[in-house]
Amino acid sequence: MDFKLSEKEDALREEIRRFAEAEISPDFIHNFLDEESRDEDWAFAMSISKKLAQKGWLVMAWPKKYGGQEASYLEQMVLAMEATYWGIPGLGMGISGTAWVGPSLMMYGSEEQRQKYLPLIAAGDPDGVWCTGYSEPNAGSDFANIQTRAVREGDEYVVNGQKVWTSCAHRARWCWLALVTDPNAAKKQHGISLLIVDMKSPGITVRPLLNYSGVHIFNEVFFDNVRVPAANLVGQENRGWYQLMQSLAYERHSVGAQIYGAGKRMLENLVEYVSETKQDGVSLSQNPVIRHKLAERAIDLETLKMLSYEIAWKMSQGVIPIYEASRNKAYGDCVQERMANTGTEILGAYSQIDQNSKLARLKGAIQHLYLLFPGITIAAGTDEIEKNIIGQFKLGLPKSY
Ligand SMILES: Cc1cc2nc3c(=O)[nH]c(=O)nc-3n(C[C@H](O)[C@H](O)[C@H](O)COP(=O)(O)OP(=O)(O)OC[C@H]3O[C@@H](n4cnc5c(N)ncnc54)[C@H](O)[C@@H]3O)c2cc1C
Repeated sequence: MDFKLSEKEDALREEIRRFAEAEISPDFIHNFLDEESRDEDWAFAMSISKKLAQKGWLVMAWPKKYGGQEASYLEQMVLAMEATYWGIPGLGMGISGTAWVGPSLMMYGSEEQRQKYLPLIAAGDPDGVWCTGYSEPNAGSDFANIQTRAVREGDEYVVNGQKVWTSCAHRARWCWLALVTDPNAAKKQHGISLLIVDMKSPGITVRPLLNYSGVHIFNEVFFDNVRVPAANLVGQENRGWYQLMQSLAYERHSVGAQIYGAGKRMLENLVEYVSETKQDGVSLSQNPVIRHKLAERAIDLETLKMLSYEIAWKMSQGVIPIYEASRNKAYGDCVQERMANTGTEILGAYSQIDQNSKLARLKGAIQHLYLLFPGITIAAGTDEIEKNIIGQFKLGLPKSY
């Protein structure tokens, strides 16, 4: 594989930098995921999302007929890395739509579904915002244990049950919903299906769940006799499990590029900070422990970038990354955690001060990352689950319990 970016990709990076300069105030702080919480942040992110769509950047690698540019996967990845580097919000608007619902619909949705939903996602339209309904109170890692039930009645399914930790449900127009269509299947995995559910349907209740920072990202979602057109079944009934494994792979690999972009910016800011800050008259940049820690973070980031490029390259060869996506998710989680720890060690007590205080350093970014990373290690599958997948699909170990 050739790791050097082409002139086209370099030009794209430059264009994104100019976009950021024109659209994003230097005072703006983009806190990954938080844009779903406050109304004003959401409105700003939506407005940027529309502009990104107009530039053809939201879903660059999609076919033109669905609103994409037919760009390479590498270009799409470069875009994600660069946009997060510059703190551009809106790329992850209802990230479910651009990162995994869209690609999954292209794989096993009907043409009617593709025509209806993909252009909305590609346009950055409020009606193109999705949430993902997998987890339940008794089914997280043990995904096959979901209980939300769909019963077919004529041309409709009637849905009852509860989902939890549903990110963006309070903003989304559609839910990518995993549920049980055959409770008597010999294996639970053979009774699961995927439905597209309109979040405006009667019978849906969305209740906010605040995370430990007081931020409203996720929700509980209750389905009480919700009637869903049978045409909203994705793929085949009771084959949802296999489709979902592919969707999860799309989800897992999508975060690596963003962790890289944001991490690169943070590392540069830390380097600047240690160069400008003295302790007992000596620059922090002379401290060998600090120098080594920063060098380790640089190695982490370069490795993550290469792993991400490799996935883009494999996808361009028609490979659906399964263990690779879990590898990047698990590794990206480590990279974020180590960056948060290094930043905390360097900033000392300042690392606990948030962006709203005048005493904050680096706009409170280290404090925010320190609170964010544990959640990211859980979302889309915990580290243990990712490692189980790598053991099975890369190393050929038997399936874990
Ligand atoms: C920020 C965030 C956003 C989220 N967004 C969504 C969303 O939009 N939609 C959605 O459906 N869900 C969402 N989730 C939920 C997430 O997918 C689950 O929290 C996750 O899958 C873990 O499930 P659980 O919380 O039930 O933990 P459990 O499955 O109960 O796991 C508890 C612990 O046991 C370990 N464990 C479990 N099984 C095994 C095993 N077989 N081998 C080794 N260790 C194991 C786990 O690694 C973990 O450490 C989100 C979570 C977070 C933190």
